[in-house]
Amino acid sequence: MDCLFCKIIAGEIPSTKVFEDEKILAFRDIAPQAPVHILVIPKEHIGGVDELNEDNSAVLSHIFSKIAEIAKQEGLSNGYRVVSNVGEHGCQSVRHLHFHILGGKQLGGDMV
Ligand code: AMP
Repeated sequence: MDCLFCKIIAGEIPSTKVFEDEKILAFRDIAPQAPVHILVIPKEHIGGVDELNEDNSAVLSHIFSKIAEIAKQEGLSNGYRVVSNVGEHGCQSVRHLHFHILGGKQLGGDMV
């Protein structure tokens, strides 16, 4: 499968890892849009939020518990934003489920 994030998981493309275990990987976004910009992805290939279902969504609780830990580790005590873009209208550019952690400064109030 020609998936950029699967290649990062496999180590075929380098990344700056922040956290890794058997189920998920977190790494720094190559084009950060905030002082802290981290992507958290499941190792299982899921195309996006639109491909989640009862059978593959258990990983979400793990992802979100680690997002909270990573945010603490990164010093985001004043808050942060978690974003997952979906499909064309959502401007998803990589079809592998990922959650952006954005923080390290006061973010804008507009979401679109
Ligand atoms: P999205 O547009 O929501 O699908 O997010 C994809 C994100 O992946 C973007 O913020 C890109 O900057 C980021 N990205 C693309 N290639 C890489 C890479 N090789 N390493 C780290 N982040 C990447």
